[in-house]
Amino acid sequence: MSSQPVPRSLLPDDTTFLESDVLVGGVSLRSLAETYGTPLFVYDEATLRQRARAAREAFSEGVAFASKSFLCGAIARLVVEEGLVIDVATGGELDLVLRAGVDPSRVVVHGNNKLPEELDRVLALGVHRLIVDNDDEIDRLRERLDGSLTVDCLVRVTPGVEAHTHEFVKTGQEDSKFGFTLANGSARRAVEDLRAVPGVRVRGLHFHIGSQIFDVGGFNEALLLVADLVRDTHVEELCVGGGLGVAYVEGESTLTIEEWGRGVRDAARRAGLPESLRLTAEPGRAIVAQAGLTLYRVGVVKDVPQRRYVAVDGGMSDNPRPVLYGSGYEAFDVSDPGAERTQPVRIVGRHCESGDVIIDEAWLPESTGVGSLIATPVTGAYGYSMASNYNRVGRPAVVFVSEGRARLVLRRETLDDLVRLEVDSETGPPLD
Ligand SMILES: *Cc1c(COP(=O)(O)O)cnc(C)c1O
Repeated sequence: MSSQPVPRSLLPDDTTFLESDVLVGGVSLRSLAETYGTPLFVYDEATLRQRARAAREAFSEGVAFASKSFLCGAIARLVVEEGLVIDVATGGELDLVLRAGVDPSRVVVHGNNKLPEELDRVLALGVHRLIVDNDDEIDRLRERLDGSLTVDCLVRVTPGVEAHTHEFVKTGQEDSKFGFTLANGSARRAVEDLRAVPGVRVRGLHFHIGSQIFDVGGFNEALLLVADLVRDTHVEELCVGGGLGVAYVEGESTLTIEEWGRGVRDAARRAGLPESLRLTAEPGRAIVAQAGLTLYRVGVVKDVPQRRYVAVDGGMSDNPRPVLYGSGYEAFDVSDPGAERTQPVRIVGRHCESGDVIIDEAWLPESTGVGSLIATPVTGAYGYSMASNYNRVGRPAVVFVSEGRARLVLRRETLDDLVRLEVDSETGPPLD
């Protein structure tokens, strides 16, 4: 419920409101929309670098960027330049970061069902860390390792703390597809089993308690639970995962990356963990979400007795989070960023689903209508990376802006791109 202009705190760090335009990274959003078309993802490089650097400073060497939140060659190179390593969870993510020129020694490999060929590639490459998730994976490592190769591992532990927005609940019975259960001794046994595999070096433990976490309570709880295992196994490293939340809408607030790091270090000390323990983390959203925004053009305005619908030229194919999680966003009119937003509307996309909603209850200036350029801030995480071709819609282009310049890092998908998987032959070869 708002009549206020969009909160500046939701926008990228390098944002300037002009009378009838907005500059991000010193570049006009109106001119970006004209040059690259809409929908368009715009990322402020200064914000990306500031967040990545903050993460690097808040934790020990080995802090990772969780690439599933947003991955392309440009972001992979940027986070590595800022001193981070990169988390991948599939062969596809791994392949992309290697093609981007990232050295395998900067890559951390996750996954609860790593495919045999993925495991082969990872072992041959020699990555920074392999996060071992389950007993079948230990068996596969045993089959593949004879002492000629080495691999540095963390054991993924399910501490029995599940963090949700604003609160955390302790589950008696860990019910997760990820990791080794702490309470029943599985995690302890996994460390012992792995240590018996030739070439495996168990560097430490890992946990990840959830996403959109707004305080350190859940991390505190998890650290207390794993402390005994850390001490008993004498591991040198503990990764506390990702999950630091970001503010998406007016009135939300969260910890900065610096505060999160300080909170985790304090909690580790209180849990009696050794000073020498290397504390790492793997934020995704906290690095990329606020750096990005999406530009849309309004195509249709329709009134029904209950409300006004504003339809834009994108939708659930470029931002599935509202549909998947009921997530909220704000919107503003780029041509009048300082205006009071007094027009209540529902912003919808162009897909053939009633559920294709971007903002259920949005507020825009009175003057916003057909042809207006609007923006939704904080769309830098889990937007492009979850984008689809639903309704045969091409994925948007992505530009990075910095110091008055824009560079295209992902071009818009074309109609040709959309048919490149079609195979002409009418009948296939016989299958025996
Ligand atoms: C998704 C995920 C992250 C990143 O989560 P954010 O909420 O984006 O910070 C980190 N680690 C693991 C294991 C994950 O699955």
